Amino acid sequence: MPRKVTIVESIHSANDQLAGENSRRLRKAGLFSVNMMASPGAGKTSLIEKTLARLTPHYSIAAIDGDVATSIDADRAAEAGAIAVQINTGGQCHIDAHMLRNALDELDLPEFDILLVENVGNLICPASFKLGTDRNVLIASIPEGDDKPYKYPAMYQDVDALLINKIDLLPYIDFDMDYFLQGVKMLNPGLVSFPVSCKTGEGIDAWIDWLEDQIKGSKTT
Ligand code: MG
Ligand code: ZN
Repeated sequence: MPRKVTIVESIHSANDQLAGENSRRLRKAGLFSVNMMASPGAGKTSLIEKTLARLTPHYSIAAIDGDVATSIDADRAAEAGAIAVQINTGGQCHIDAHMLRNALDELDLPEFDILLVENVGNLICPASFKLGTDRNVLIASIPEGDDKPYKYPAMYQDVDALLINKIDLLPYIDFDMDYFLQGVKMLNPGLVSFPVSCKTGEGIDAWIDWLEDQIKGSKTT
């Protein structure tokens, strides 16, 4: 049994090393990169569409979409104005640093200002496979329920921002925002969070402002 633990650790350390290489490569090319993680159906693709609609007039953006089988999300990102690359993970439930590296090979990196990575919909392993992106963002959503920080703590522990999507559904769903935020605070004190609705557009401004601040901050350091 201990042997199995050793193997898992070596997989993760190999991944971390590749993530470091991705990070250096992206920075050298002048890209600001964001890894977007969430459960299936939380609204990653819709949020990427909203983000692209706001930022493509000012920035050149690439999107890399990880999916188990289809290219539906990459097609949507391309329609919304990004140069999109699809990663079909062949059944794997997360993107790893090696898959991202292969996807980066498909892009002329210096042409872009921003890279948005849509991870595979999953609240477990994306937390333990670093990609080398500048920021890690988690998208929660109201229909998932207010207990998710308690049930999937690793996803909440290591992210730089939290979007709470589908707040337009709050009147129809038993979702105790205080209980939810209490769990978040316990796991990741001071985590910046944005209640948003892709449907009504509420809260999107604050998210875009934060993202642009991060991009500008990365240029001056
Ligand atoms: Mg999607
Ligand atoms: Zn996985």
